[in-house]
Amino acid sequence: MSFASLNLAPELLRAVLEQGYTEPTPIQAQAIPAILNRMDIMGCAQTGTGKTAGFTLPLLQLLAPLASTSTSPAKHPVRALVLTPTRELAAQVEESVRTYGKYLPLRTALLYGGVDIKPQIKSMQGGVEIVVATPGRLLDHMEQKSVNLSQVQMLVLDEADRMLDMGFMPAITRILAALPPMRQNLLFSATFSEEIKKLASGFMRNPTMIEVARRNAPAELVTHQVYEVPALKKHALLAHLVKTRDMQQVLIFCRMKRDADKLSRQLIRDGLSATAIHGDRSQSERSLALDEFKTGKVKLLVATDVAARGIDIDQLPFVINYEIPNTPEDYVHRIGRTGRAGSPGEAISLVSPEEMDYLGSIEKLLKRQIPRLPLPLLGGDRETRAPREREPSAVSRAAAPALSEDERRERAEQRRVREAKDSGRARRAPYAGGSSTPPAPLPAYPHFDFSKPYEPPAKDAAHDVAAVAAKAPLPHRPQARSIGALLGRKKLDKV
Ligand code: AMP
Repeated sequence: MSFASLNLAPELLRAVLEQGYTEPTPIQAQAIPAILNRMDIMGCAQTGTGKTAGFTLPLLQLLAPLASTSTSPAKHPVRALVLTPTRELAAQVEESVRTYGKYLPLRTALLYGGVDIKPQIKSMQGGVEIVVATPGRLLDHMEQKSVNLSQVQMLVLDEADRMLDMGFMPAITRILAALPPMRQNLLFSATFSEEIKKLASGFMRNPTMIEVARRNAPAELVTHQVYEVPALKKHALLAHLVKTRDMQQVLIFCRMKRDADKLSRQLIRDGLSATAIHGDRSQSERSLALDEFKTGKVKLLVATDVAARGIDIDQLPFVINYEIPNTPEDYVHRIGRTGRAGSPGEAISLVSPEEMDYLGSIEKLLKRQIPRLPLPLLGGDRETRAPREREPSAVSRAAAPALSEDERRERAEQRRVREAKDSGRARRAPYAGGSSTPPAPLPAYPHFDFSKPYEPPAKDAAHDVAAVAAKAPLPHRPQARSIGALLGRKKLDKV
């Protein structure tokens, strides 16, 4: 199939050709005709499937007849709104809109937080047809009346699952309420939980479900490995692996941003080239870190889950979970960064005794035990204190300003760790790691039957959109999701 057969305008075909794309990806082949037919779409697709062009190209085509060369701002009302969970993704989407729309006189604005709002207000004053925004900053603009959404005809929620995970439901609900009811809605999500379906059913009109597996399903190309290692030895093991295996490009995950910073500083002290990317860094610092990593100037990028979202790097050979995630879905998202574009990838997890429960949930999701690798002898067994997040005091909590995306997650994580400690939960697996004192004998996977499929924990009571909107944006605990959808297996027709 060619792009020309999708009835795209010559201006768009020219832009696509310049990108060197020869044929549409599966999601593009399905989504473009459906969107051009003005249908609402629920697309189950991860980053890397070509989903951005899948919604951007038809969006541009539908708006093209409304483009105006007038200089009057009134002739350039906001007609399309794209919401994304992170600044990085917003920037990538906006760049795609500019790239594919370069031969059309449509104007675009990029609105995200963490930077001065004034230039964004100025860019809106001239009039723009397409706004790409993160929910929090868009609300700021709505409050300042620097954006008028009354003429929006198309709404795109990109990585909707991530937006819900990050606690954006109340913001999304407020934004939806500000949009005209008659519009086309497109929702993209890597996973489809009950919560996403509930959100969709609240505002979409009989949406068509489009589902594609990743261009390369992670399971086929990624080797999973685990080192059971005491937290105090993780840093030495990481440095050892990078050096002895001559790793040239590694994305390393920490759960918390302070840990990410600390680890990257430790790695630099080890003589390795490393940088960190997380929500506390300015947008230009994050962009620079990502660029340096992509171009190979820096070998090790230490990231938090939130900051790494939307990062699109083809042929990333290694993902190392310095700390494994506390939800199995995040594991799938993390490893989705490697094993792409036909290249094999390795997902290596450094798991301390405290994290064995989390590992158990991940293995249950994958329906197999991840092979354990023997711990190498670490030079002099130089122990570096593992980065640990200190509990914020009640005073600092009270004085804290509005929480950023990363911070909300971080607080939720701290609470979970605290709760886990309080409830004194038994660890699930016997611990095999390291020479330092292992934990007391543990039961062998007491609740863990590999022969049975993963069963997500019981869901919280269902809550409707209005009820959620009434609440403050509390840290959101990710809901359990269908594994079929997560791993791109299940095929749905209509929702
Ligand atoms: P996305 O899933 O939208 O993040 O896209 C992933 C990558 O695929 C981006 O680097 C795009 O430039 C690239 N891409 C999008 N569409 C195509 C296509 N039809 N052929 C080849 N590459 C594409």
